[in-house]
Amino acid sequence: MRTIIFATSNQNKMREIREILAGLHLNILSMKEAGIEADIVEDGKSFEENAQIKAETIRNISGEIVLADDSGLEIDYLGGEPGIYSARYMGEDTSYHVKNGSLIERLNGVPDEERTARFVCAVAAAFPDRETQVVRGTIEGRIGYEEAGENGFGYDPIFYVPEYGCTTAELDPEKKNEISHRGKALRMILPILRDYLQAE
Ligand code: IMP
Repeated sequence: MRTIIFATSNQNKMREIREILAGLHLNILSMKEAGIEADIVEDGKSFEENAQIKAETIRNISGEIVLADDSGLEIDYLGGEPGIYSARYMGEDTSYHVKNGSLIERLNGVPDEERTARFVCAVAAAFPDRETQVVRGTIEGRIGYEEAGENGFGYDPIFYVPEYGCTTAELDPEKKNEISHRGKALRMILPILRDYLQAE
């Protein structure tokens, strides 16, 4: 069975990728399961560049097929902030309750139609002997006026999805995976991997 590594230590992301790639009969390992430790400097200028840097760094160490993702929240009124700095916004150790409060405050008085935002996820697939492929998934929404919902993580409590009339923190996790930026990007990787494996 072919091994691939997903360059993450996040168990939720591992579960999601295993579900999406189930039909390919791959042995999918996290970094820890593959016994790889690496301090990767994410100094790219876009989600795509950062995902590619991560995937290629781990591919160079392991020689295996490697997937990596990079994601974040873009708020139009703030010129795309926090963007690629979403995890680092106000410092890695600052709670999301505080980060979310800060973003709501910065949008104080801004009307609904100017509160548009999106979650973005780039997923890169690096191969031992073929050029890296990168895809992007997005979900469009608006920044709410207060936090709502207990599910999810990060900026989910302030990310309101008009079609569902609630935030992504109020959706059940399966529904969120179905419509999310990450779910979309991971599903776009499926045919790319299938092509590669068939050509081997
Ligand atoms: P990373 O790509 O795992 O480094 O995530 C980047 C950051 O973007 C996270 O720490 C969150 O702050 C934010 N983010 C990415 N995806 C989501 C999501 O689905 N919900 C809430 N926040 C997210």
